[in-house]
Amino acid sequence: KLPLDAALIKKDFPILQETVNGKPLIWLDNAATTQKPKLVIDRLSYFYEHENSNIHRAAHELAARATDAYEAAREKVRAFLNAASTNEIVFVRGATEAINLVAKSFGEQFINAGDEIIVSHLEHHANIVPWQQLAQKKGARLRVIPVDDDGQVILEEYVKLLNSRTKLVSFTQVSNALGTVTPAKQIVELAHQIGAKVLVDGAQSVSHMSVDVRYLNADFFVFSGHKVFGPTGIGVVYGKEDLLNQIQPWQGGGNMIKDVTFERTVYHPAPSRFEAGTGNIADAVGLGAAIDYVTGLGMNLIYQYEHQLLHYATQLLKDIPGLRLVGTAPDKASVLSFTLKGHTNDEVGQALNKEGIAVRTGHHCAQPILRRFGLESTVRPSLAFYNTCADIDTLVETLYRLQHKK
Ligand code: PMP
Repeated sequence: KLPLDAALIKKDFPILQETVNGKPLIWLDNAATTQKPKLVIDRLSYFYEHENSNIHRAAHELAARATDAYEAAREKVRAFLNAASTNEIVFVRGATEAINLVAKSFGEQFINAGDEIIVSHLEHHANIVPWQQLAQKKGARLRVIPVDDDGQVILEEYVKLLNSRTKLVSFTQVSNALGTVTPAKQIVELAHQIGAKVLVDGAQSVSHMSVDVRYLNADFFVFSGHKVFGPTGIGVVYGKEDLLNQIQPWQGGGNMIKDVTFERTVYHPAPSRFEAGTGNIADAVGLGAAIDYVTGLGMNLIYQYEHQLLHYATQLLKDIPGLRLVGTAPDKASVLSFTLKGHTNDEVGQALNKEGIAVRTGHHCAQPILRRFGLESTVRPSLAFYNTCADIDTLVETLYRLQHKK
């Protein structure tokens, strides 16, 4: 018996009732973005119909409603990550902005010439480019943890990179291109032993496993709302409270200040100091609803179910003649990346689209890791808890048919 009834869960997602090319939509592009349950869509409408106002400013009723809804969402994020305080939860646009915030605030302040920043070979461009920019500006050095042939980081090589110049280690908990689950707790611990700070990119992890930032002990943890069944345009930086309050804000403006004269500005403590201007209020509230939804299903059940589904899919894909699976670490989540002999990845993507199956083909904004495997692109189905074994069967049948046509 499976831990979740995915066929029933699918009914909570209006878009999963769509047809594409006359076929029921099979959404296997969850690593790019996830679909939204009706409850999230309704929460957004409710906000605009009953609560819409700017927050923290006015004396009127709607400002109070909007502020309460926004701060309630912050509390939901806090509980979701098991952070110690809502002061540790900063709302931003998404994981990309979150990493840029840390690079432009913490990085500008604490990383200097000769210092070293470590990332892994698995990183999404969002966790490479901001560090590269910072390193170039400061004269710091970007170093890379290599991966083995299964696509897992090599811890012994990581240990060799750590030294007194290391100021920050920034790595992903789950690879968006291969699905590798990295040994995050160990990576954090080893960095802390030499006094470096750590950022964990949770963009691909929070929707597939329960995350406890206090257990992980990361200094920063970031994710995007749209990859965890919430709206686009909203994301989160978790940061340890002491650390956030030592960091100068990266943007200035309204909401983030205690007092302004032409001579100087006194900032609010975190999180306000990092939320200059009018934020994405409605979508933060929508993210809160998405968190209610996934925690209602149970992150542990989601993890178990997806694990079984991933195993099922992996076994079937492996048997397809000419299919090369890239990313074969024992510990994986959601992602199946492959190439099919005799077909370009675009051809495979188009053939799947004809059957109503949505996958991503391309470099998945992670060119270095694909090149590590001698590739410029792959076909990448990625699973969520609303995918069924029947979805996988349709995927596999379509791939077999494509092979036999040759
Ligand atoms: N990190 C990882 C691992 C990702 O998969 C993504 C999105 N593909 C990002 C960061 C960036 O997220 P966003 O585009 O939502 O800012």
